[in-house]
Amino acid sequence: MTTQPIITFHDGHSIPQVGLGVWQTPQDIAAPTVRTALAAGYRHIDTASGYDNEEGVGEGIRSSGIDRKDIFVTTKLRNTDQGYDNALRAFEVSLKKLGSDYIDLYLIHWPSPHRGLYRETWKAFVRLREEGRVRSIGVSNFYPDHLDHIVGDTGVVPVINQIELHPDFQQKAAQEAHKKLNIVTESWSPLGQGRFISNPVIGQIAAKHGKAPAQVIIRWHIDTGLVVIPKSVTPSRIEENFNVFDFKLDGEDMAAIAKLDSAGARMGPDPYTATF
Ligand code: NAD
Repeated sequence: MTTQPIITFHDGHSIPQVGLGVWQTPQDIAAPTVRTALAAGYRHIDTASGYDNEEGVGEGIRSSGIDRKDIFVTTKLRNTDQGYDNALRAFEVSLKKLGSDYIDLYLIHWPSPHRGLYRETWKAFVRLREEGRVRSIGVSNFYPDHLDHIVGDTGVVPVINQIELHPDFQQKAAQEAHKKLNIVTESWSPLGQGRFISNPVIGQIAAKHGKAPAQVIIRWHIDTGLVVIPKSVTPSRIEENFNVFDFKLDGEDMAAIAKLDSAGARMGPDPYTATF
C-alpha cells in the first residue's frame, strides 16, 4: 500500500490526510466506488447522513476485504436532526446504516444558526465521545464565533472543522483561527467541484511536474497541512486523485497558487445565512 500522510488530532486519534468524498454519489454507486477507492489505497471515506448513501458506504467497506479498524469513516449529523436527544437518536441510525459499532469521526454538518440548536447538539456529541461510541468529534462549516460558543459551553474543542476551501477560496483567516485552537482544517469541494482542472496556473505547474491538474490541487491541500477529500465516481480519477505521494510542490508553485485566492469565491452557501 502507498505510504500516505496522516494527521494526529489533539485527542490522540489520527486521520489519513487524503480521503474519498461521496457527496452526490447515489446509494447503489457508493459500494463499488468505496471498494475502488479502498483497492487504490484510500483508507478514509467522508460521508454524511444527508448524502443518503451511508448503507452503500458500509457495504463497500464490508465487501472490500479490508479490516474496518484500518479504515477511517466520517459521517455527519443532518441539520434537521440537531438538538440533544435528536442527535443521539440520529447517531444510532447512522451507525446502523453504516453497519459498524463505532464511527471514527462524527461532525455537526452545519451550525444552522437559525435553528439555535448547535450548542445543545455539541453536548450530545461530547456524550457520544465519552461513551466511546465515536472516536473523535468535530464540526463542519463553523465560523470562529460558533466554535467559541461550543468550546465555552463544554471545554471540549472539536478536532476538526470541515469547511469549503479550494485554490480561489483559501480561507486563511479560518485556518489561522483553527490553528490557535489546535483544530485541523479539512477542505470540502477541494477541486472547486472540478472547476480548477482547466486553470492555466494549475496547468503549468502540472506540466512542470508531469502530473494531472487534479493531482497538483490535491498536493497543494496536503502541502498546506489540510485534510482533503476529493470526490469522484470514476475509477481512473479515484486512482489519479490518490497518486499524489511521489511529488511535492516547490516554493514557486505554492506562491503561484497563493495568488489564486480571491475573497468572495465561495461556491456553496454562507454558513451564517444558510437556511437549511
Ligand atoms: P470536489 O471539489 O471534490 O470536485 C469533484 C468533481 O471534480 C467531480 O465530480 C468531477 O467532476 C471532478 N473531478 C474529480 N476528480 C477529477 C480528476 N482527477 N480529473 C478531473 N476532474 C475531476 O467536489 P465535492 O464533491 O463538492 O467535494 C468533495 C467532498 O467534500 C464531497 O464529496 C463531500 O464528501 C465533502 N463536502 C462536504 C460539504 C460540507 O458541507 N461539509 C459540502 C460539500 C462537499
